[in-house]
Amino acid sequence: MSLKSVASTHHGAAVPAESGGSTGGPSVGQGSTETGEFFQAADDYRALADILPQAICRKDEDGRYLFVNQRYCAWVGRASGEIIGKTDFDLFAHEVAQILCEDDRRAFEGGESFPTKYELPGREGVLTHVLRGPVRDDVGHTSAVYAVVWEESGDKLQKHLDLEQEIFLLRALMDTIPDSIYFKDRDSRFSWINRYTAAKFGIVGPAEADGKTDFDFFTVEHAGQAFRDEQEIIRTGRPLVNLEEKETLPDGHIKWASTTKMPLRDAGGRIIGTFGISRDITEKKHFEDQLAHQAFYDPLTQLPNRALFHDRLDHLFRRGRRKGAKPFLFSVIYLDLDRFKGVNDSLGHAAGDDLLVQFGRRLETCLRPGDTLARVGGDEFTVLLEDIASEADATTVAERIHRALTPPFNVNGTEIFSSASVGIALSSTGYKQPQDMLRDADTAMYRAKANGRSRHEVFDSDMHQRAVSLLQLETDLRRAVERGECRVYYQPIVDLATRRLSAFEALIRWQHPTRGMVMPDLFIPIAEETGLISSIGLWVLREACTQTRKWQRRFPQDPPLRICVNMSTRQLAQIDFVDQVRRTLEETDFDPKDLTLEMTESALMHNLKTGAAAIQKLHEMSVKLDIDDFGTGYSSLAYLQTFPVDTLKIDRSFVARMKRDEPGQTEIVRAIIGLAHNLGMEVTAEGVETAEQIEALQALNCTRAQGYFLSYPLPAEAAEALLARDLPLF
Ligand code: C2E
Ligand code: CA
Ligand code: CA
Repeated sequence: MSLKSVASTHHGAAVPAESGGSTGGPSVGQGSTETGEFFQAADDYRALADILPQAICRKDEDGRYLFVNQRYCAWVGRASGEIIGKTDFDLFAHEVAQILCEDDRRAFEGGESFPTKYELPGREGVLTHVLRGPVRDDVGHTSAVYAVVWEESGDKLQKHLDLEQEIFLLRALMDTIPDSIYFKDRDSRFSWINRYTAAKFGIVGPAEADGKTDFDFFTVEHAGQAFRDEQEIIRTGRPLVNLEEKETLPDGHIKWASTTKMPLRDAGGRIIGTFGISRDITEKKHFEDQLAHQAFYDPLTQLPNRALFHDRLDHLFRRGRRKGAKPFLFSVIYLDLDRFKGVNDSLGHAAGDDLLVQFGRRLETCLRPGDTLARVGGDEFTVLLEDIASEADATTVAERIHRALTPPFNVNGTEIFSSASVGIALSSTGYKQPQDMLRDADTAMYRAKANGRSRHEVFDSDMHQRAVSLLQLETDLRRAVERGECRVYYQPIVDLATRRLSAFEALIRWQHPTRGMVMPDLFIPIAEETGLISSIGLWVLREACTQTRKWQRRFPQDPPLRICVNMSTRQLAQIDFVDQVRRTLEETDFDPKDLTLEMTESALMHNLKTGAAAIQKLHEMSVKLDIDDFGTGYSSLAYLQTFPVDTLKIDRSFVARMKRDEPGQTEIVRAIIGLAHNLGMEVTAEGVETAEQIEALQALNCTRAQGYFLSYPLPAEAAEALLARDLPLF
């Protein structure tokens, strides 16, 4: 019994296989437009399908027949017109249909082709092979299932059939695979491509590529390279494996592919062409590019990062070292945003980020296309200027940068004025290592910052010397206090009404074992930067109180001798600052009323929150507060008034300009004194160097004076001698 009879037992008359299709053409084109399209797209398959000795069909997701070949019609025993659009349940016994449908489902959902063997009910003794696989559309969705059916009869013919079967399956497989597969002749003309390749080329079907070459589908460059590769394979017989290629398609799309190309040989081993398989790796490539971008670019500003900058700089160094290289000059510029922290602290990090981005954009406008601008740290940028003619080229860029930064930035509607300190290093200094050049540009930048910001400095070797010696100084400073290298000097402060000494200002000195006397202007900034100021400041306070207490006992006066001690910003910010002062006073038996702490305006401004509380507590302890260097900061007097300030110390720069030929300057001092008195504060003039200044200050009702004219800062013994003499100081 044949399957035909299985079907016929349910559906009546069987149709002879030969009449399954019309004689004029394939029977399967009728009934379904989709099948029609399929065959239009692949003419060769239509013929192939009907010649094949296997039964072939295609079914949609619901199991409805879309296409059958002649052999299939014969197998079922019906004409194609009776099959298309029907399901197995219409054609076979229920039991049979159920078995077939279940496996169709598997093929549809499984995504892989697979073989099955049945001994179908009613076909005992005959093995029915069905090979199924999904049919995918161009985007990879399974749209249908194909099935190839043949029966095993023990016939010798079967072997031949198996071979044809294999070829068919191979093609079916190649057409469902989402990779490009192609065969080419010795002249690199396509002899066969799979459907995926056809879709990629934008042609209707694979047949359209016959006889064409890569030049018809790619750019000349790409096609030329492919042609050369293939000719090489044909010449040598050596394959090209996993070659990464960039492909520019006709519509301008760029794709990346990993391609393997092999020689194609005939049965005699002669090379008759090539074949290749290439996989689209565009997405992988994008991902890799993204990773590479992340490794070398700053995500905030999209500028090159430190790693990439180093890389470019390194490249220039290597170029310079190459034998016979023409000498060339390049420059590294190091930039640091002035007062960036303030923006971050007051307006928030989002605003800070915004400023950095805008800052980067402006810097870009100052450079030539070949220059590299990188963000190398929070608010630090570097520029690499290649091939410049002279140092002047680098300083010109720096000047351009300062100009570009002059207009305010608009951050969330707030106008922010920013500037940068710029350090420049030139390759003519003769660097061996890129990092040395960067370090020097950095050093020069610090110099620029120290010299008053918003300026640039070109690195010179003196600077290096200074930098090295500062570093050494820092190391030495750590041990200075414990080794007893520090001294306190005492400079008299004189009451202008009584002409007598009313207080000393304690001024630290460092007796360095090899450098001699080091002045505080040099090491106090280092102490502040390193945090050493806390212990140094405390030591000065203790020393000054101890000494002054001794003098108070020995030379009693009314009011008692006062001591003025300088406090730096960092100390005020310390949480236990007030406790430390209180303890020191207790331990030295010093009356808090006789202590004055001197703080600059900026020290106060920097610590508005913590500082205000500390100052209030000190005030409650009766410790007095003086504003040091008054007039050099930016604060308004009205603002300072919110602190319990006792005395303003007019900065010596104002006093120095109080000369007969600079009457305007005297007016400034007069205004400060007037204002201070109105606010209930007293005034000490610093840096008094002449009798003339003393007279003028007396005339202006200034409370006290301090300066070389009255006395230099003195070591304790000399200060004591002065106290002992007890004479008017002018
Ligand atoms: P300052 O607080 O303004 O101290 C006054 C400075 O002016 C002292 O410099 C003093 O020697 C100098 N001076 C006094 N009279 C005259 C004069 O008539 N003409 C000129 N041109 N200068 C005069 P010094 O001792 O070198 O101290 C410099 C700065 O170092 C001080 O300025 C102060 O800010 C800081 N400093 C000194 N000792 C300490 C300390 O123990 N702790 C802290 N935090 N800072 C200190
Ligand atoms: Ca002072
Ligand atoms: Ca001062």
